[in-house]
Amino acid sequence: METSLEALMALDCGPDGLQGYKDERQVLLERVESLLRDGPDKDFVIICGEREWEVHCTVLQIHSKVLAAACEGGFKEGLERRLDLTDEEPSCTTALVDYLYHLNYYATDLDAEAGGALGLHTNMCILADQYDMPPLKTLAIEKFKAEILRPKFQKDSLSPEAAHDLAIAATSAYDAMEPTTEIREEIVKIAITTKALSTTNTTESEQSDFEGVVRTRVELAADIAAVLTKMCLIDRPVPSSHECRFRCPACAATFIAELSERALGTGFGNCYQCGEKFRLATWRKHIVNRILHAHLE
Ligand SMILES: [Zn+2]
Repeated sequence: METSLEALMALDCGPDGLQGYKDERQVLLERVESLLRDGPDKDFVIICGEREWEVHCTVLQIHSKVLAAACEGGFKEGLERRLDLTDEEPSCTTALVDYLYHLNYYATDLDAEAGGALGLHTNMCILADQYDMPPLKTLAIEKFKAEILRPKFQKDSLSPEAAHDLAIAATSAYDAMEPTTEIREEIVKIAITTKALSTTNTTESEQSDFEGVVRTRVELAADIAAVLTKMCLIDRPVPSSHECRFRCPACAATFIAELSERALGTGFGNCYQCGEKFRLATWRKHIVNRILHAHLE
């Protein structure tokens, strides 16, 4: 069995596990999966709180040198034949055991308090780094990226549940730092595209869970500010000192222009969109500052 497992582990698995691979690989995976269900010779126990999973040291050894060391006699875990992961979220430990035997895991049975799928994938990325399991780390990052493409993260605003999930993910990601570089980049993008931060004065109770995290994590706030600054500089939606952004009273289009006596001469200026003509005094009442919105809409 060991040889078969090694062959299986050598496969390059995408985010959906072995989907699309040849039938014989599917058969092999099913045999490994059946080991967890009713395989004999389970010789190690993974514990998380009150839950226990009987597993095979061989399977642990194939996936991770760190887990292999835990199986060997020299450590407390090896002597007791058990690994206590009670400090991890139960959903995280379940996902780890699923991955060991199925080469995949799913965000099911999540405890809403502990976040949602984003929180789980972030924690799986960190766990994979800790146990030196690069394929699992890649899978967790891919799953995180797939999750944020779901409609609830593609809106103009986040629901309280989505903001809570993002808050949990951001907290874990910014605690871990190095292993979560890619996930942190995604969190910053989502914070901007969903307008997750209030643009008006809000009291603490009006702020979302995610906003609360941003206000206490300097690195996260700085990352968001850096991306916004870069967006302003690269695309120059910011008027230079002698220009303003105007909104046309007739067609509501906005444009950046220099509408001054000097530039206009006549005292009248035309809309760049509909061509309607207005007095300079009228245009001055229709100066808008939509630097960020213009960019993010
Ligand atoms: Zn117009």
